[in-house]
Amino acid sequence: MSRILVVEDESTIADAVLYALRADGLQAEHFLLGRPALARLRAQPFDVVILDVGLPDISGFELCRELRQFSEVPVVFLTARDGEVDRVVGLELGADDYVVKPFSPRELVARVRARLRRASSTQHALRESGDFSHDLGGQRIRYRGAWLPLTRYEYQLLAVLLGRPGAIFSREQLMDHVWRDAPETVDRTVDTHVKTLRAKLRQVAGDADPIQTHRGQGYSLKTSE
Ligand code: CA
Repeated sequence: MSRILVVEDESTIADAVLYALRADGLQAEHFLLGRPALARLRAQPFDVVILDVGLPDISGFELCRELRQFSEVPVVFLTARDGEVDRVVGLELGADDYVVKPFSPRELVARVRARLRRASSTQHALRESGDFSHDLGGQRIRYRGAWLPLTRYEYQLLAVLLGRPGAIFSREQLMDHVWRDAPETVDRTVDTHVKTLRAKLRQVAGDADPIQTHRGQGYSLKTSE
């Protein structure tokens, strides 16, 4: 089932949108503020994001800019004024569509459906590797049939290990690959993320421990038993 994230601070508009999405068989989650929505998007992949431009904490534009640093999820903007439309169109924010308020929720749902159709027709092939499937375009990884709810760094860490199954990566190499943009972090960051990653893999398959520790050398990934 497709998952839609709605970010809109006006409850009456949000309620109408959520109702229309759910009536059309879509799964919808709602946030009143931008920051918590962004945190949710980092933790969990969605299929489409509906994003109000005028939010109380950060603007929809800023949210979209930050979102594009880690996700290519289609974004449909809800705009209030013509001036905002100009910016949506003009700023190359990575918006995929927009509707101007007041709008009909059914029209919005039709736009969302169009984004979903396009996404599925250009769907990136999954790179299969044993128990893992890697959706490079969608930046998500499936393990034994379940999509893993990974944070950005957990995803990048697993993606690096998955790139060369069985190869041992030192902590230093993993730091270089994964934490390139966060130079102040210490070595232990790798261990901490391996720990949370293992916990998430165990939630899918309690008996399995595909991440192997090589004492004094680093980590590797075993993609099948
Ligand atoms: Ca608003």
